[in-house]
Amino acid sequence: MRKQHFYHALKVDEQLCFGCTHCMNVCPTDAIRIRDGIASIHRNLCVDCGECMKVCPVEAIFVEQDDFQNIFDYKYRVAVLPSVFIGQFSKQISEGEIIDVLKGLGFTHVVPAEATVDSLNEAMLEVHNADHEKPLISSFCPSIVRLIQVKFPGLVNNIIATKPPIDSTAIYYRKLLLDEGKKAEDIGIFYVTPCASKIATVKDPVGESTSFVDGVINMDFLYNKVYHVLKTRGEEYTQKDENVPYISPKGLKWSLTDGESDHMKGRCLAIDEIHNVISFLEKVENDEVINVDFLELRACDQSCAGGVLLTENRFLTVERLKTRAERLEKTKDYYTEITPVHKEFIKDTLQLGKIEPRSVMSLDEDMGTALKKMERVRRIMCYLPGIDCGACGAPNCESLARDIVMKDAHLSNCVFLQRMMEKTKKLDPMHSIRIIEKTWGKDRLDKDCKKKGAKNESL
Ligand code: SF4
Ligand code: SF4
Repeated sequence: MRKQHFYHALKVDEQLCFGCTHCMNVCPTDAIRIRDGIASIHRNLCVDCGECMKVCPVEAIFVEQDDFQNIFDYKYRVAVLPSVFIGQFSKQISEGEIIDVLKGLGFTHVVPAEATVDSLNEAMLEVHNADHEKPLISSFCPSIVRLIQVKFPGLVNNIIATKPPIDSTAIYYRKLLLDEGKKAEDIGIFYVTPCASKIATVKDPVGESTSFVDGVINMDFLYNKVYHVLKTRGEEYTQKDENVPYISPKGLKWSLTDGESDHMKGRCLAIDEIHNVISFLEKVENDEVINVDFLELRACDQSCAGGVLLTENRFLTVERLKTRAERLEKTKDYYTEITPVHKEFIKDTLQLGKIEPRSVMSLDEDMGTALKKMERVRRIMCYLPGIDCGACGAPNCESLARDIVMKDAHLSNCVFLQRMMEKTKKLDPMHSIRIIEKTWGKDRLDKDCKKKGAKNESL
């Protein structure tokens, strides 16, 4: 049976939110509404891109994470570590030192999330060589996959149906430990995430029925812990782990912009930042882009280096990772080969299940009913003024029309139609005030000289 909702890692702290609408205005999928003066996220429309979190002036939007202490429920505690975590540290700190600190914090194994990119790259090139719809679109960024599901359903079949590296690495590493004779119940795999969308996909993988990891740890939380240890450790420290298993120049750069497209064939484009991606996909959908073989699309500016849970500057992170990759390229003594048997295993597990379109489906689970509701949305649009003012608590008139069809709002939520209804005596003015209070909260219309920009703001 089709799942009703996506899982979401982003939450709104209702105590902090004051309904300023900044988040609603930047959301690329119109997923945010203001109700009772507080932002709420529409679960079926949100793609976990984190844009709302970046603009909230009071940090009311946050990313839920698992309790770090959960790692100690397992005898073998594996951190699946994306390269951008390492990229946040200056080049004076070696990769081995970072792994040492992580082990000191409680992990028994640390594996780069990009350990399996060679096998993944091979599988992607096989799809390129096969007779597949072009342009192929990478499945690396979960926000992009969800964006295509909800906003560009006609392009769903262009997505290469391979698991992203975090999933394939988690599956591979579990297998490795099992083959070493460790018991399944003793193994806990934890993903250190740079963004909300990776949490969402780990908890609720697109095209899969179960998750491959046992928990998720936010990257900013772990970075602060590692940074503190590095800052406060004594002079007597000597590095234990000389080499990091499975780290490679290609893996270090895979999650950066151009990381995948540099290793694909034909005409390849790399586009980052979700609004850039949306404009480009609109062109693809309108057949304005031809003869492109591969699209690497990432929701964040500078790809994973710009993830909302990174602490360091994204441009510095990119530069540091490229420097590390160059150094590794020269030394050549870094790499731990994955055995041929395990390579076969990884290859066999890379295929993703079917990725379903979800655009009109957000109106109804049944396609026929969803299309009828879409028709009603179009009819309601005839009555709305079409100026997208946001005064109804929805980001634009079309979103209000959808909310009306979904019985989450009424025509009278539109402030312009309210005036018309009052004029024709279909609505009494007190009722209008109550509607506005329901959207913006009861105190919103009270005089308050301490609110932002008002007379006594600084008092
Ligand atoms: S940006 Fe959104 S979540 Fe933050 S205070 Fe404004 S309305 Fe609330
Ligand atoms: S995470 Fe992105 S899609 Fe979801 S509500 Fe925030 S801005 Fe909108």
